[in-house]
Amino acid sequence: MHQINEIYINGQFVTPHGEELFDLFNPATAQPIGQIRLADEQDAHAAIKAAKQAFPEFSRTPKATRVAHLKRMHAAVAGVEAELTQAIIEEYGAPVSRAVWMAKHAASVLLDAARVLQDYDFTRRIGIAEVIMQPLGVAGLITPWNSNAGFICGKLAAALAAGCTAVIKPSEMSALQTSVVTRALHQAGLPAGVFNIVTGRGETVGAVLSTHADIAKVSFTGSTAVGKHILRAGAETLKRITLELGGKSPVLVLDDTDLKKAIPMALQAGFMNSGQACIAGTRILVPAHRLAEVERLIIKEVANIRAGDPQDPNTSVGPMVSLKQWQRVQAYIQMGIEEGAHLLAGGPGLPDECTAGWFIKPTVFSRVTNQMTIAREEIFGPVLSVITYKDEAEALAIANDTPYGLQAYILSTDVKKAHTLASQIDAGRVLINTLAHEPLAPFGGFKQSGIGREYGTFGLEAFLEPKSILS
Ligand code: NAD
Repeated sequence: MHQINEIYINGQFVTPHGEELFDLFNPATAQPIGQIRLADEQDAHAAIKAAKQAFPEFSRTPKATRVAHLKRMHAAVAGVEAELTQAIIEEYGAPVSRAVWMAKHAASVLLDAARVLQDYDFTRRIGIAEVIMQPLGVAGLITPWNSNAGFICGKLAAALAAGCTAVIKPSEMSALQTSVVTRALHQAGLPAGVFNIVTGRGETVGAVLSTHADIAKVSFTGSTAVGKHILRAGAETLKRITLELGGKSPVLVLDDTDLKKAIPMALQAGFMNSGQACIAGTRILVPAHRLAEVERLIIKEVANIRAGDPQDPNTSVGPMVSLKQWQRVQAYIQMGIEEGAHLLAGGPGLPDECTAGWFIKPTVFSRVTNQMTIAREEIFGPVLSVITYKDEAEALAIANDTPYGLQAYILSTDVKKAHTLASQIDAGRVLINTLAHEPLAPFGGFKQSGIGREYGTFGLEAFLEPKSILS
């Protein structure tokens, strides 16, 4: 059993003042695997104090010093890749192929930030003004359970590259990953207080970060409901706030496309990260006159998608992170049935070969209307909706008829047409015939998928404030 009794403040591992113990589970077995002692408000205050003390000196460090810090941090996290992969599988249940990618990503974002910083000019001239990009101050960084290690490292990398210091509040459900990453980052030997990691509840530690006068910036990734709460809480002190929130991404399968290639890719986009992905392509939009062919292909393809033991390299859909999440996804499947959608694959209950754990059958509903609850709300599980359109204008209208706008996918052999459609979709990223990631391009949402952008130069500037000096 894991026992995690430490948080990280001012360059030291310390026992939290908070005394609450929080159980950790292996979602593939539903069995407890350990406990973490959670930080409380007093711990959050101590972490903010340390970050505030470290800020004046750190904010003035030369760019080369911070580049070197980021490179050491990258090497340290890359050095624990195997351990991090196992932690991700054990406490989150990501299938091994995904977990390996996630662990590599946690390291690579640090190197990406070092490269961006290397090339970034903090001073520019505009007319008679010298414009200086100045670090904002202490940043509060809040992460979700579905990509905890990656967001700890990605948000921290951007904050430190800018010259900010940080207090990180990781997801309380991801304590193993946080422990591995914290120990690695400590090895990188940054000055005390530059980053602090306090795992506690959102309503306690998270609430302090979103209201404390000494926090200048909050970068949050998580649900839209909590994001709105943080925005309201931060308004009192006018915090700069970046929000990376939920999604209900459309996959536009155009009439010209080869369905035998498009449908497997659409399913991969929908079931990625076991469906627990903000960018999952959960609404598959297909030409009405090809529905029968689409349905046949989906039934065939889903039969070959393995849900089960995340350690098995053949598995592509792992368990839901918690019993609560499992129940939530099951409720949506039931709702889809009750709303009259046609169940094409999957359905309620556990997959046949699973007797324990929080597994969901990879589920696809067809003949869904865009007004049904399963097409409107973020389910955050392997549950997809096929929606028909009669022409491209309608496909576009359906794609944009959502409160979200994080990502969209277009599958077409007509690249010019796909680009024209991409320009009309309200989403922060549009992927044409690919599931690739570009780590230096801005990432973030339109509408209720968020505010601001992460990664690359846009992500760096989210931690900077322009100042014009005229003489
Ligand atoms: P969540 O909103 O429940 O929690 C996210 C984090 O916020 C956790 O650390 C939690 O402890 C904290 N929190 C909770 N209440 C808080 C409060 N009142 N004040 C401050 N912090 C608080 O989200 P989750 O369930 O961990 O993650 C799933 C959600 O994250 C999904 O909606 C998903 O779409 C979203 N997500 C978005 C992106 C993106 O980049 N857009 C990426 C991954 C996940």
